[in-house]
Amino acid sequence: MSTELAQPAHAPLPWHTHAWQRFNQALAVQRSAHALLLAGPTGLGKRALAQAMAARVLCDRPSNDLACGQCRGCQLRLAGSHPDYTVIEPEAGGSGILKIEAVRQLTTFSQRTSQYDGYRVAVLAPAEAMNRHTANALLKTLEEPPASVMLILVSHRPALLAATIRSRCQILTLNPPQQSQSLEWLTAQGIEQPALALMLAGGAPLAAQAIAEAGGTQQFAELIDGVAAVAGGRASAVAVASEWQAIGARETTELMQRLTLLLARYQALSSSSPGLPASIEPLARATAPKRLQSIAEKLYQLRAATSQSLSRELSVEALFLLWTRA
Ligand SMILES: [Zn+2]
Repeated sequence: MSTELAQPAHAPLPWHTHAWQRFNQALAVQRSAHALLLAGPTGLGKRALAQAMAARVLCDRPSNDLACGQCRGCQLRLAGSHPDYTVIEPEAGGSGILKIEAVRQLTTFSQRTSQYDGYRVAVLAPAEAMNRHTANALLKTLEEPPASVMLILVSHRPALLAATIRSRCQILTLNPPQQSQSLEWLTAQGIEQPALALMLAGGAPLAAQAIAEAGGTQQFAELIDGVAAVAGGRASAVAVASEWQAIGARETTELMQRLTLLLARYQALSSSSPGLPASIEPLARATAPKRLQSIAEKLYQLRAATSQSLSRELSVEALFLLWTRA
């Protein structure tokens, strides 16, 4: 059923409602900011929201504050050939920094006359990927914004933006949605173990979807089983570690740290959060709190060490050796 309910590409996500309403209210009274800054953690769909906003203002016949997807404006945008729409982003496979040429193109774009007598919209993401030169070039456009130009900046680290840029933008901050809303959305996307995916993503639903689709939830469940087997003396640390070599010490450490947090939480509350793997419970009961604390501290130290020169094999083994009975 989820395909029937699937949202069109130009619609905001369910947890964008508040930002979306504010945006449309400003549009309705023609008091939209020339520059918007969409800020908030990664995995919340800020870029999708920016695209929905662009679609809304470029649509000739919006209905219920949504782009229609049918009109000339929508068709041009969907074909990637709307002359009044541009997306500025770092080159794929490049340094990750926005090139000065790209920002200069934005200046030229802003100064052109609209081809269709409406808004010209530019999305710039991620906005923090600017050095001083590109930021200065952008500032010139922000200081004297041409009429009917809308610039939408997207940033998950807005503190890295120059204060002179931030101060010229209307800032819309997105926060992680309520857990229930995220779980409902993830379930509608067909994500299995949505609670676990959301926990691994720190509460950001799109990040949770990406983790689940990359096999991250399954991997975490396997980690719990591996650790439990070592802790229970049913498998050797060396044997279990061999299955985690390909994943590497750094990632395994991170996952193990998440596991220690879940186990500590279980021990503190005597229950697990709904939807998390049932295998957490026996491991939490079998590990003394003091020992868990000691393992967590050693993981922290090993994580610092893996960023230096320890060999991968030694590190992964060391991680599982922490759980063996003394
Ligand atoms: Zn339209």
